[in-house]
This record gives sequence, structure tokens and C-alpha cells, in this order.
Amino acid sequence: MIPFIAKQDQLERKMAEWQRLAGPLLTTDAIRSYSGHPVYALTLTDPSVPRSDKKAVYVAQPHAHEPGTTAGMADVIEQLIAGKDLAGKPTALDRERILANTVITFNPIGNPFGRENAPELYYDGTKYDPAAFRCLIFGEDPEQPGCQWKRVDVWDLRQEQAPDPVGIVYEPIDEFHYAEPNRTRLSSYFQLFAKMDAMHRYEYWLDLHQMMFIDGNFEDTGYSCQIFLPIAGLEAEAIAAENEVWASDITEAWLARGFAAAAPHRSGYTGAQAEYFRNTFGDLHRRMHRITTEVVTNRQKYPVEVQVKAQSAAIEATLMRLQGKGIHSA
Ligand SMILES: [Zn+2]
Repeated sequence: MIPFIAKQDQLERKMAEWQRLAGPLLTTDAIRSYSGHPVYALTLTDPSVPRSDKKAVYVAQPHAHEPGTTAGMADVIEQLIAGKDLAGKPTALDRERILANTVITFNPIGNPFGRENAPELYYDGTKYDPAAFRCLIFGEDPEQPGCQWKRVDVWDLRQEQAPDPVGIVYEPIDEFHYAEPNRTRLSSYFQLFAKMDAMHRYEYWLDLHQMMFIDGNFEDTGYSCQIFLPIAGLEAEAIAAENEVWASDITEAWLARGFAAAAPHRSGYTGAQAEYFRNTFGDLHRRMHRITTEVVTNRQKYPVEVQVKAQSAAIEATLMRLQGKGIHSA
């Protein structure tokens, strides 16, 4: 199987190797989380080309239980730096052109605390049924054994009967508070974005996620990947149009590589969950292009390699599109 890079120490070993190979093409920035972990941003670009001649894209992942996102980013960074993917296959990317035309920043592990506390490197469906997987993610409700605890942006240890252990989706942000990274600007994931955005002023943000692709009755939906567009009404009109074409480019790339891609779908969150996204990303959706991948996880039906290669395909399609080589923009 292709090497699966998802833990902090694996990433740091690759970072040292990448820096040796890439020299000035790679810049590493970091913030330190409340838990004491460095949260990394790796930026690849040709520094001899001015920013005004480039597009800037941010590629990130907030969720500790979605390790295939990190593995997919590592696979693309390897291609851009070493000219081959992590399986050793030569890359199809035009690396020189991409690095000359693009600033690409990766945040491979948005919540290192959660990722380090994750019990497995990846989830292939053999150890956790869907309910147990959700308990791992959100914690097990102390009042309803076997059921996941609630999903909130920020919660206070002093005011809750919290699960033991705490779900790995959460990150401690101070002595008492835990946060889900993409639902508040208090998270490391968001603070790192703010720091990097102040430097590069990104036009695009590809956020990488994973889900099980099962319905409410735990039945297979028949798909392994899909693009989620922002909640309706958040984007400016011109931004929305480009987001839709970008989403269809990625979907076409998935289908061309044999992945069971569903058509792009507008995020269906309502109520409190929608409110978290409006508060956290509302102004960004009016300024920049931002869409989300979902790739299958924790399912025996799909080889684990799909988790890596469907994510890397989405990033590759994005980079191709930004060179004017997108399917719809050629
Ligand atoms: Zn996610």
C-alpha cells in the first residue's frame, strides 16, 4: 500500500526530507497550539516570481479523525517536490509551471492534539462500526452509552459532564475550553490560516474532509467522494459561479480516475451547525473561493488507498485548474 502519512512524527520526518530537496521553494511556518503541538503550514512556490503574477491557494484539514486528508496532502507535496508520488510513480503535474504560477500552502494536520490521540493511523471499517466511530469522534455520551456526545463549536469543562475520553474532533484551546476546529476562529486551524492569509492573501481555499458515505439507516450510498459547496446564500455571485466550475472540475477528475464521485452538493447544514459556519466563514465566502472535499473513510468496501488518492486527485485538479488547464477553463 502507498505510505500513509498522517501522524505528527511521520509528517516531521517528511518535512525534513522535503526541505533538503526543495530548498528555497519550500517555506515552513507554524503556530503552537495550547496543547503544545506545532501546527504547520508548508508553502510551496517559486520565490523568484512576484506574488502579483500568481494565484494563492490554501489547502487544509480541521478534523483529527480524517487522516486520509493529511495523507493526500503529503502525496501531492511529494509530487511537487520529488517529482513522484508516495508510491514512486512519476507525477503528471507540470511542477515548474505550477510553482511559478501558484503559491500553495498546506496545513496537513489542523488539530495535532486530536490526531496524536487518535487510536489508529487510518480507519478501514474493520474495527469501528458507524456508531462506535462517531463515539470516537465526538466522545461517548455519559448519559447514553453507545451514542455520540453533542457537537458544539466550543464547550467548557466546568459546565459539562464531558465524555471520558474526550472525542478526538475537539482541541483544548485554554485551561477549560475545547473547540471543534472549523466551527470557531479560536482554533489552531483557524489561527494558522489567519497568520498565513495575512502573508499571502489567498484567493482559493480547498478544505479536505472525510465521511462514511452511509445514509441515516447506515446503508451504503454507492459513492466514495463528493464536493460540498458553501451553505446557500453565503457567497458573492461571481464567487459562487467559479466555485461551481471548480467543483465540477474536481468531480470530473475523480470520475476520470475511476472514483465513485457524486455530483457536487450544497452543504445542507441548518440550525446551530449552519450558524457556526456563517460566523466562522461568512466573510471569507464573500471574498474568496472555498469548497470542501468529502472522501470515504471507515468502510471495508473501499481500499484505504482511495482515501489518499481521491484527496490528492482533488488537489491536483485544483492546481491544474489554476494553470488555466481546468476541464472547463481550457
Ligand atoms: Zn470533516
